[in-house]
Amino acid sequence: MRPLEMIAEWRRGCTVAGPLLGYDDSPAECAECTDALIDAIESHLTAEKFLIWSNEHRAWWKPGRSGYCIAVEAAGRYSHADALAISVAAHDGWRPGQPPPEIPVAEADVLACEAHYRERAGNDGPAR
Ligand SMILES: [Zn+2]
Repeated sequence: MRPLEMIAEWRRGCTVAGPLLGYDDSPAECAECTDALIDAIESHLTAEKFLIWSNEHRAWWKPGRSGYCIAVEAAGRYSHADALAISVAAHDGWRPGQPPPEIPVAEADVLACEAHYRERAGNDGPAR
């Protein structure tokens, strides 16, 4: 579950402590639900991994900053901080009006795009 989905679930309200303690199901009244939301978002953001796309090499960064590869499976997984630091530093970084040399991409987004492609390819042939 991603952070916006976590927040949406929290907004649906407390169905456990709220009714037991006699208040309505307003999520903001339930400290347990709110603490759980914060913990879940923190865990997600701490664990979230990023791939780094190199426009210069037209490939993904491999693990350990050691070269490039085409296959997502072989690409390195980096923390957000590391992916951002690499993208900011490589080839003088992002310059206004220029294509970004290196781009951090959330692993979940890479996998979602690949899944979408596979779905389309299965239904309609390869995407163009
Ligand atoms: Zn609750």
